[in-house]
Amino acid sequence: MGQRIAVLGAGPMGLAVAYQLARDGHQPVVFEADDRVGGMAAGFDFSGLTIERYYHFHCISDTAFLQLLGELGLSDQMHWHATRMGYWYQDRLQAWGNPLALLKFRGLGLAAKFRYGLHAFLSTKRKREDWKALDHVEATGWIRRWVGAEAYEVLWRRLFDYKFYDYSSNLSAAWIWSRIRRIGTSRASLFEEKLGYLEGGSDTLLNAMRDDIVKHGGEVRLGSPVAKVVIAQDQVRGVESGGQFEAFDKVVSTIPLPYVPRVMPDLPPAVLAQFQAVRNIAVVCVIVKLRKQVTENFWVNTNDPEMDIPGLVEYTNLRPLDQHIVYVPFYMPGEHAKYADPDQVFLDKVRRYLKKINPSLSDADFLDMRASRYRHAQPICEPGYLDRLPAPALPVRGLWVADTSYYYPEDRGISESIDFGLKMAKDAAA
Ligand SMILES: Cc1cc2nc3c(=O)[nH]c(=O)nc-3n(C[C@H](O)[C@H](O)[C@H](O)COP(=O)(O)OP(=O)(O)OC[C@H]3O[C@@H](n4cnc5c(N)ncnc54)[C@H](O)[C@@H]3O)c2cc1C
Repeated sequence: MGQRIAVLGAGPMGLAVAYQLARDGHQPVVFEADDRVGGMAAGFDFSGLTIERYYHFHCISDTAFLQLLGELGLSDQMHWHATRMGYWYQDRLQAWGNPLALLKFRGLGLAAKFRYGLHAFLSTKRKREDWKALDHVEATGWIRRWVGAEAYEVLWRRLFDYKFYDYSSNLSAAWIWSRIRRIGTSRASLFEEKLGYLEGGSDTLLNAMRDDIVKHGGEVRLGSPVAKVVIAQDQVRGVESGGQFEAFDKVVSTIPLPYVPRVMPDLPPAVLAQFQAVRNIAVVCVIVKLRKQVTENFWVNTNDPEMDIPGLVEYTNLRPLDQHIVYVPFYMPGEHAKYADPDQVFLDKVRRYLKKINPSLSDADFLDMRASRYRHAQPICEPGYLDRLPAPALPVRGLWVADTSYYYPEDRGISESIDFGLKMAKDAAA
């Protein structure tokens, strides 16, 4: 007999939960606060072009994502390309991302290059299951010990400073390592990086998942934030949305953890305290439509005292489109004063930065620009992160809670959210 299960959030994880439940004969109802599916991976209308608000690419290791594409008959929409990386340093754009580029890199001694290269190489060789040894290690110290002070200053420090700000000094080495490994292993050879994109962007998969959920008897309700998960006598009873109570056998939440205490105020105090302790980084991500290419690289790391960004993504160097698309993410703690700056401040900075990197760009080359914000875009994973979180099956009967930080040490990713969501659905319905 199928169970009626409420799923909170229609990002990739919530959709994966509902997809699995519906295919297993249950009746999931997905509640999504936004007016569209996708969460961080959602698309928007960028003056006639439907594209993600935040850049998305895929790596060879995105197993759950690729498997789901297969199940939905979408594998032929996946494309892989050799991509290039660059490093903007000392007012010069240099090649990056392979041993030859490292050797030729200007502004770093030979010993520092060797130590940097060795660390990157061994990080990609370390097996996924060996992450525990790095779980309780602090990341910047771990990297400094390997690469030395010089390479850390030139190649790493700004990436930490402009992504994690005050949190930089207490991050898990296992978590940072898994990011190095994901990109480092997505290669055709030592000299060639290989990344993938989905034709039509993430919407192609997200819409197919939504349709599949509906086809198998589930529901996806947009513009329907859940105000409260109703709990009584240590048992979940249902949810309140739009001022109405609706009874459910079970509830699975995939909304960012910092929202959980507000939506589930009746959780046991010890569990509430665990969720209240979780911190996230916000993002203001500027997307630019240009007449001209900025560089030939997909990803450009930046180390420039005049730029408060870790890098930028020239998306159309992976996925060809009629015009050139560049994403420039500004990460920062949500409490940081900069987050209160109006969008125009970020748009002006991006125009300045892109013109600095490519002085042949004029104002006429900028066809359109937008800024999107996601308040809880990136969890901050300190050493031993998972030890401080409750298990997804909470000590309330019928209630499961997770977000992107639950698959620590993996970084947030569509594939990881799908994988976690599919497994959580099996567990919740058992
Ligand atoms: C700038 C940026 C770049 C990224 N780049 C990549 C990349 O290149 N490759 C990759 O694989 N991944 C990338 N990601 C990560 C990827 O987008 C996420 O891992 C994935 O979308 C997370 O999905 P999720 O469902 O776990 O969470 P989310 O996407 O956060 O979904 C949570 C959903 O819950 C909804 N919600 C919140 N509160 C409520 C409520 N009270 N009631 C109902 N619904 C609610 C939200 O609206 C949202 O839709 C990127 C993310 C960002 C921000």
